Amino acid sequence: MEANKTIRKKRSTPQTTKEDSVDLDFVRQRLAQLRPVFEGIESGDFSKSLQSSDQKGVFTELFDGIGMMQKLLNEQADQIYQLKQQLQAKTTDNSRALEEAQALSHLGSWEWDIATGTITWSDELYRIYGMRPQERPIGFEEFIGLIHPDDRKRVQDTIDTSFQTGRPFEFEHRIVLSAGDERILKGMGKTVVDKAGKPTRMLGTSQDVTQVKQLDRAKDEFISLVSHQLRTPLSIIRIHGGILEDGIAGPLDAKQEGHIRTMTSASIRLIGLVDDILRISRISLNRIKVSASPTDPNKLIQGCIEELVSAAKEKGVTIAFSPDTSLGLVSIDATIFGEILRNLAGNAVRYSKKNNGHIAIDFIKEANGYLLTVKDNGIGIPQVDQAFIFERFYRANNAVVVDSEGNGLGLYIVKLFTEAAGGKIWLKSTAGKGTTFYVSFPFQGMQQG
Ligand code: ADP
Repeated sequence: MEANKTIRKKRSTPQTTKEDSVDLDFVRQRLAQLRPVFEGIESGDFSKSLQSSDQKGVFTELFDGIGMMQKLLNEQADQIYQLKQQLQAKTTDNSRALEEAQALSHLGSWEWDIATGTITWSDELYRIYGMRPQERPIGFEEFIGLIHPDDRKRVQDTIDTSFQTGRPFEFEHRIVLSAGDERILKGMGKTVVDKAGKPTRMLGTSQDVTQVKQLDRAKDEFISLVSHQLRTPLSIIRIHGGILEDGIAGPLDAKQEGHIRTMTSASIRLIGLVDDILRISRISLNRIKVSASPTDPNKLIQGCIEELVSAAKEKGVTIAFSPDTSLGLVSIDATIFGEILRNLAGNAVRYSKKNNGHIAIDFIKEANGYLLTVKDNGIGIPQVDQAFIFERFYRANNAVVVDSEGNGLGLYIVKLFTEAAGGKIWLKSTAGKGTTFYVSFPFQGMQQG
C-alpha cells in the first residue's frame, strides 16, 4: 500500500527536462520500441532486444536497465522451469509410490467433492471392488448399492452423522462383488468443512481386511477349542481336590491339607481364566446372540446381589440397592445383564477397603434410556490408568497391591457384552476415594449391538 502511494506520488510530480520537451517525436519512437519488449515480457518471452544505436542520455540508462531486467527474468524463468520439472518428477514418483503402497496394503482411497458431487476413487479402490482402475465414475448411490444389504444402513448413517457433525468416522462393512463374493472392508474418513463450518469435501480410505478377518476367526476358533478342552480336566482337578480337602478320602495332616488347598485355589483361578477366554472368543466369533425379553430389573439385580453377599460379608462391605418400583418390565437379556452386574459389583467388593466399604447399586430410567450404576468408596482408579482400564489384561498398580490374582479380563468382557447388547459403559473415579461405573441402554432395552 505504502509503496503504491509512493509510486503514484512520484508519477504525479512532472520531471520536465530539456530533452523531454525538445524532442517529443524521439521519445515517442523510443517508447514505441519498448512496446514489443513489454509484450514479450508479459507473455513470458524475455529475448526481445532493444536497439541502442541512436539512444540519448536517459534512454540509454532506461534501455540498459530493461535489458538487465530481461536477463534477470530470463534466469529466474529458467530456474522456475527446472524446479517445475523436478517437482513434476517428484510428484510422479510420489504418486507411483503411493499407488504401489495402496496395492500392497489393499488400501484404496476416495474423495467426494460435495459442491460438484464428483467422487474420485484411487485405482486400488476399483480393484478392491473387483473393477478395472477408473473403468467408470462411481456415484454415491452406486457405492451404497455395492455394500452388503445388512451393513448398508449403518454405513449410510455413519456417513450422514459425519456430514452433520464434521467428526471423523471409522467402520467395518462387507461388500458384495459382481460374482457374488463378499469382502470385508475397514473404512475411515473425515469431512472437510469451510470457515463457516459448511462441509466441502469428504475423503477417506477403505482397506480390504478380508484375509486378516479370516485369520482372526481361525485364531478365535482355535482359542475357543483349546479353552473347551482345558475346562474339563481343570474341573476334574478342582472337584477331586475338594474331595481331598474335605477329608472324604481320608484324614490329611496340616501340611498335606495346605498343599491341597493351594492346588484347588489355583485350579479355581485357572477355571475362571478359561471361562473368561471362552466368553471373549464367543463374542469375537459373534456367537453372542442378544435375546432380550420383558424382565423385572429389580428382581434380576437382587438375585445378582445375593450371589455376592458372602464375599461382601467376608470383606466387611455393605451393598445397598433401592429398587425403583415404578420401572415395570424392561427388555433385558438376563444372562448378559447378570454378567455385567456380577463383574462390576464383584470388582466393587474386591477393590473396597476392608471393613469400611459401601457399595450402592442403582437402576433408573433417564431422559435417554436406562442407566445402571455401581458405586463404591474403594481404592479408586488412578487418572493415568482410566483410559486403558477396559483393555484386555490391563490392571492398575493399586489394584495389583490389593489383589494380586486378578487377570484384567473382567472389564474388557463387560465392555464387549455391553456393546454387543447396544449399550455404553463409562466410569468416574478418584484414586483413594472410590469408583462409579455407568452402563446405559436405550429405552428399547437391550438389543443386538
Ligand atoms: P481384574 O479385577 O481381574 O484385575 P478387571 O478387568 O475386572 O480385572 O478390572 C481391571 C482393572 O480395573 C482392575 O485390575 C483394577 O485396576 C480396575 N478396577 C476395576 N474395577 C474397579 C473398582 N471398582 N475399583 C478400583 N479399581 C477397579
